[in-house]
Amino acid sequence: MDLMEYQAKQLFAKHGVAGAVGIVASTADEARAAAEQLGGTVVVKAQVKAGGRGKAGGVKLADGPAETAARAEEILGMQIKGLTVHRVLIAPTADITEEYYFSFLVDRANRNYLCIASVEGGVEIEEVAHTNPDAVAKVAIDPGAGVDEAKAREIVAEARFPAEVADAAVAMVQQLWRVFIDEDASLVEVNPLARLAGDTLEALDGKVTLDDNAEFRHPEHADFDDQDAADPLEAKSRDKGLNYVKLDGSVGIIGNGAGLVMSTLDVVSYAGQEYGGQEPANFLDIGGGASAQVMADGLDIVLGDEQVKSVFVNVFGGITACDAVADGIVSALGILGDAATKPLVVRLDGNNVDEGRRILAEADHPLVSVVDTMDGAAARAAELAAN
Ligand code: GDP
Ligand code: MN
Repeated sequence: MDLMEYQAKQLFAKHGVAGAVGIVASTADEARAAAEQLGGTVVVKAQVKAGGRGKAGGVKLADGPAETAARAEEILGMQIKGLTVHRVLIAPTADITEEYYFSFLVDRANRNYLCIASVEGGVEIEEVAHTNPDAVAKVAIDPGAGVDEAKAREIVAEARFPAEVADAAVAMVQQLWRVFIDEDASLVEVNPLARLAGDTLEALDGKVTLDDNAEFRHPEHADFDDQDAADPLEAKSRDKGLNYVKLDGSVGIIGNGAGLVMSTLDVVSYAGQEYGGQEPANFLDIGGGASAQVMADGLDIVLGDEQVKSVFVNVFGGITACDAVADGIVSALGILGDAATKPLVVRLDGNNVDEGRRILAEADHPLVSVVDTMDGAAARAAELAAN
């Protein structure tokens, strides 16, 4: 589970990391009240699970309650990377002199933990990583040993944090390590980790991903799971028990089996290059026993995505044979009726494939075309999405 900034900051505070927690507001009036309570100049920050809020205009300073309400009014309802802003965080402003970057993450490739830190943090960190990789320190962390004071000092030295803030940084690095380990996170990122006038450090932004597999150890984390922030289609598919992840493209994908769906995404992405860069719109695995109802639920969700221009149904018949899947598609289209409006490209293979194709041919649904190969079907779906 990814946390919002304000939630990440609550975890930071629990572990003693310096930086204001702030006050969350979902209306301009609440924002005004928060500014009254805090006094002085505040920062109004969009709360969405996406980076780059600053660049998108989702982070603004405001002097006093009236201005805070006005900035909140502008930011609430804004779209940032396709996500609607429902809440803003109002926090006291900090007198920033420098912006650093800091993170702990799971380094899967090396089966290890990794710390990434840089004194050139802030909104251009991706740019820095490209143009000046030497400015970004990467320190491997032995999971058995963790981060003690000596390790924290090594990290701070590698990252070349200035001497004036080194001790403060060593303390904060250890606190952030506690957040990472004690909360079972797979990512803890602070950008900016700000140096303030007076050489103190504060975490002014926080990104935390909690490991869902450790959920059972943290009943208190359930409070972080806010349904309204999740993508509405993802929330709906979770209710239906489907394994759906929203992506950015135009070709809706339905398949059975995670491996097949993953390779379908690759094939569509590749085929889409011929058609103006069409990309998959989602991951959706309807599982092995793809009944008509499951197919209808899947189609309903994929067609509910406004970005979808065509749908690629890629099914390999196994225990649920192709004829059952074909029946499922035909009855799903019946269940959906006028709600089904976008062209469907179906590729069936495996158990009882001939019967499956016969059923689809006989149904002769105007939206459905059957293509025998995965590559051919991907190309056709990408072509339909492009037109
Ligand atoms: P992001 O763009 O989504 O990563 O959002 P951040 O929280 O990192 O904010 C973006 C930028 O806004 C930061 O790099 C800072 O320069 C600035 N910013 C954020 N919080 C404050 C604050 O409290 N005071 C001031 N002056 N600037 C801030
Ligand atoms: Mn940031």
